[in-house]
Amino acid sequence: MGIATVNPTTGEVCQTFTRLSATEIEAKLALADTTFQAYRQTTFAQRSQWLYRTAELLELRREEYGKLMTFEMGKPLQAAIAEVEKCAWVCRFYAEAAEGFLADHEIRSDAAQSGITYQPIGVVLAVMPWNFPFWQVFRFAAPALMAGNVGLLKHASNVPQTALKIAEIFQEAGFPEGAFQTLLIEASQVATVVADRRIAAATLTGSEAAGSSLAMHAGKALKKVVLELGGSDPFIVMASADLEAAVQTAVTARTMNNGQSCIAAKRFILAEPIADEFIQRLTEKFALLTVGDPMQLETQIGPLATPSILADIHRQVQATIAAGAKVHIGGKPLDRPGNFYPPTILSAIPINSPGAREEFFGPVALVFRVPDLASAIKLANQTEFGLGASAWTNNPEEQQRCIREIEAGAVFINGMVKSDPRLPFGGIKKSGFGRELGRLGIHEFVNIKTVWVK
Ligand code: NDP
Repeated sequence: MGIATVNPTTGEVCQTFTRLSATEIEAKLALADTTFQAYRQTTFAQRSQWLYRTAELLELRREEYGKLMTFEMGKPLQAAIAEVEKCAWVCRFYAEAAEGFLADHEIRSDAAQSGITYQPIGVVLAVMPWNFPFWQVFRFAAPALMAGNVGLLKHASNVPQTALKIAEIFQEAGFPEGAFQTLLIEASQVATVVADRRIAAATLTGSEAAGSSLAMHAGKALKKVVLELGGSDPFIVMASADLEAAVQTAVTARTMNNGQSCIAAKRFILAEPIADEFIQRLTEKFALLTVGDPMQLETQIGPLATPSILADIHRQVQATIAAGAKVHIGGKPLDRPGNFYPPTILSAIPINSPGAREEFFGPVALVFRVPDLASAIKLANQTEFGLGASAWTNNPEEQQRCIREIEAGAVFINGMVKSDPRLPFGGIKKSGFGRELGRLGIHEFVNIKTVWVK
């Protein structure tokens, strides 16, 4: 489809865009580079003033920006508005905390004075996905801009208007022209951009394939990357858990953003004694969810973002059923225009089917039963991914075992995996490497310079 806005609710092609030419890309790279030379000299106070203003603009126009996201990728409007508010939060967080995170740090050695000073590294390329089209960008941009770097955004091809709007917001907030630019380019153009000498580093949120490709090209040019890739997050429920709280959270964790979140709970691993009850309650709650036009405030599940995401989830579910899985609810696309897929629950999932091995990017809960915690942890770890994990148990020993033994970048006990500006976020294994957010996030794209003075 190229770079275009296609309404996922109706399938209508609303606006198409021409990808930037080599000359246009050159102009943007040159501007980013010259801007960096001046921008790196600005003070923390100045940068935070611009970032606070960004937060104000986001809050002022939360509904307008929310509607734009919903229009381009189909998330329910309530959730889109909440996403804009969360972007304001991450801006305020780094506007306030960045100077402290990057303060010079003394370390005693044989020198009269020694330690660390943090310096910006230059132009950072951000390759971003459509699923949280504002949040993914702001969680990169807020720390990068506070650190004194400048940003270039290659957003997903199905959210071009959102991509252009984000660059406009930073400009309007007062950041210098060139501090944050959007490049309307296709994935095939990324390799050339990342190889350009003016790009210092890159970050990507998206699929394993995209991450691996970017890392390969960046590696060839010896540039650092941070990768935030897929997940097949486990949601373990043990017999001592508060079952109602676990079921309620499971519904949100699996269906938020129409099921298209890297940290969504995807594999529900249930202890035998509570498994039947859990499945029954989950099925009842899934049946009550309102699927429909995402612009309507009461809608809980909108369309999937693109026809190809719909085709993928349909193929995965059908193949898992064909291998012997049981369907409790849902199981095939809705018979209506747009990319609608209903909340679905599958159990008795054969070990070699897609349901046991692949990431499901849609509102499909994959249910597994286990006799004890050791089996639950073993199954949780039986994936190539390792992003987040949620475990429900009121037994302190079981809680500690989950924290120690689950292979993931984050473990949440009795709660849903979520990102929070104050806490680091990232994965292990094929979920990627590096961290975003918190103190660690701002340290990814700086020169940690050692200073030694006799
Ligand atoms: P992609 O990973 O293809 O897209 C994410 C971003 O990467 C987009 O900007 C895309 O650009 C770009 N991209 C794609 N291929 C390359 C490449 N070879 N080199 C550089 N950049 C590239 O995700 P899809 O939209 O295709 O979704 C497919 C699957 O990816 C999902 O089903 C899900 O499993 C996973 N995914 C995970 C996300 C997460 O949050 N971890 C987010 C989105 C997807 P363009 O749009 O132009 O192709």
